[in-house]
Amino acid sequence: MNIIDHIQEELHTLEASSNLRRLPQMVHDGREVVVNGQRMLNLSSNDYLGLSADLSLRREFLATLTPETFLPTSSSSRLLTGNFTVYEELEAELAHLFGTEAALVFNSGYHANTGILPALSDAQTLILADKLVHASLIDGIRLSPARCIRYRHNDLLQLERLLSQHQASYRQIIIVTESLFSMDGDKADLTALVQLKRLYPHVLLYVDEAHAFGVCGPHGLGLAEEEKCIADIDLLVGTFGKAAASAGAYIVCRKAIREYLVNKMRTFIFTTALPPVNVAWTLFIVRRLARMQPLRQHLAAISLLLRQALLERGYTCPSQSHIVPMIVGASADTILRAELLQRHGFYALPVRPPTVPEGTSRIRFSLTADIRREEVEQLADLIRNL
Ligand code: PMP
Repeated sequence: MNIIDHIQEELHTLEASSNLRRLPQMVHDGREVVVNGQRMLNLSSNDYLGLSADLSLRREFLATLTPETFLPTSSSSRLLTGNFTVYEELEAELAHLFGTEAALVFNSGYHANTGILPALSDAQTLILADKLVHASLIDGIRLSPARCIRYRHNDLLQLERLLSQHQASYRQIIIVTESLFSMDGDKADLTALVQLKRLYPHVLLYVDEAHAFGVCGPHGLGLAEEEKCIADIDLLVGTFGKAAASAGAYIVCRKAIREYLVNKMRTFIFTTALPPVNVAWTLFIVRRLARMQPLRQHLAAISLLLRQALLERGYTCPSQSHIVPMIVGASADTILRAELLQRHGFYALPVRPPTVPEGTSRIRFSLTADIRREEVEQLADLIRNL
């Protein structure tokens, strides 16, 4: 069989199991999207604080720019000529807000998660990773020379056993988790993880706050801020492409770790730095995050409403946040229900294997602070009658 025939056959197999993905064509209009001529409320965006649809913020930012300061490209890696001052301003601001020794900015969360673990690991490293960590972390693990064991999702008893069983055989152990999990919307017990890590001097804790940055914590710094354990997390990572309505990612950490990453991290070294204008926008947003508590409170209230509606309708709903999965099971059934919601003006998307485990296909609602309470009430009514 030639290569193209083989590829076609694989695509047919994906289609037959309702797992073929296609790029959706859509027009964006603030909180809404228009798909196939139909206007719908976007319930699948990661714009958790609704900032990307906020025109007044954009106007305010644009007023700070001139043709001289609008810098659309860095034209280089930061280690060569791409290290514009705005990068260091953002890093200083992050270190100040988090109260850490240092911060380092990356082009994306994907760059961060695929680069940090390979840079820090060697063959005497053991990585203990939660079963449900994001694909970018899995890819980072695959690229690193460390041995990896995945523990059952949020099962800290198993993690404790693994630590005591293996601690004497490795130079270092890195525990890897998300703080707010991207598919179930549930949270890791960061306080308990910190306690576990403290049992051994050679254990590092790596926490990905992609879905919590901007949303959790009194100043929007994430779940670690809420749990008052920022200082105990060695590798605290977050992204700017979700609640911060921008692009890129950060780590806040010790100075030595920052310097080591600058020297060893391939996804930092071998890439053109983000456009300075983009970093300036991130800084503009990051400086305003602390004041956005009313948005965080509204988001928490509408999320609770939706979770309650799902529980009433008999769905298991692991979520403790604004990421609210409606777990249906079979992929075909999930697609039908998503289409029905879309016909009623709610743009919610099915998430299928391999993104989630087989048999747990779901509609993943991801609520944003610009969604109104009445809209969630309408959605809840619809779910009750599904
Ligand atoms: N970590 C998690 C938990 C994510 O969900 C994602 C993206 N959805 C990333 C990292 C990657 O971040 P980015 O989109 O900035 O590459």
